[in-house]
Amino acid sequence: MDDFEDKHNIEELVDYEDRELTLEVISMIATSPKVRSVYEGLYPKSLYSEIMLALVHESYGEKEARSMWHGILHHLSTMNRKMGRDVGVAVAALDYLTNISHELQDPCIMEETKSDFVADAATRDELTGLYMRQVFEVILEREVEEAKRNSSPLSLLMLDIDEFKSVNDTYGHPVGDVVLREIGGLILRTVRAMDLAARYGGDEMVIVMPRVTRETTVQVAERLQKATSLLEFEGVRVTISIGVAHFSPPMTTAKELVKAADQALYAAKESGRNQVV
Ligand code: GH3
Ligand code: MG
Repeated sequence: MDDFEDKHNIEELVDYEDRELTLEVISMIATSPKVRSVYEGLYPKSLYSEIMLALVHESYGEKEARSMWHGILHHLSTMNRKMGRDVGVAVAALDYLTNISHELQDPCIMEETKSDFVADAATRDELTGLYMRQVFEVILEREVEEAKRNSSPLSLLMLDIDEFKSVNDTYGHPVGDVVLREIGGLILRTVRAMDLAARYGGDEMVIVMPRVTRETTVQVAERLQKATSLLEFEGVRVTISIGVAHFSPPMTTAKELVKAADQALYAAKESGRNQVV
């Protein structure tokens, strides 16, 4: 597309040191024939298999990958037309390979798409702005695999608003919604780009924190808990309880990590709420 080419000088693009197929480059290949032919020159026999590898972490032969790529582009234009906006190549690829061609059973999104693909409104909870639970589940599985592979730290925070039902009962559901929205915003402002915060359901939220020490995750949890207790939402004050769990032996699955965080949250509620356990 022309505005892509305005923004990205193609000469510059070809000069990229590592010529990495980032999501930005893949998007340009999808929309600009000029960029596509430059990259076909750079990867004469493997462009499409490299794209599929970067996009969904699966290896396909070049011929098969090229035909998938065409399917994805076709699907992208259909989706864009139906939704009246550009959903982006990552979303189209994921939807095409998962739901149309049934190539992927357990979709694994490229690293970069954790911010780019997931940033798409279609994957966010409307009220809180946090990612939807389904996204959390996909990402957590992947982070658990990565933590096992690299023995890197992985923590999970589970937050729940204290006595939220009584906020609704006392001030009304719309005020409850404001509280949820504001707490969602606070969480988004607090977490790092590599963390993933999602609405788990109702007044319960989760934050996946990979590759950071246990101390840091506890500090983040305490900061969130204190900040919430100091905020006022349309004159209403609330507190939150947070359970923190770290992925460590004998845990082997995402489910066990979720269970541990849930138990910590339950303990925080049991010992009086407005605290981190
Ligand atoms: P606890 O301290 O034990 O967590 O008490 P609680 O009242 O927060 O616990 P409970 O899980 O029973 O209540 C959660 C409430 O969250 C119930 C439901 O009405 C409210 N809720 C869930 N989703 C929404 C929403 O989208 N908007 C509003 N306003 N309220 C919601
Ligand atoms: Mg609650």
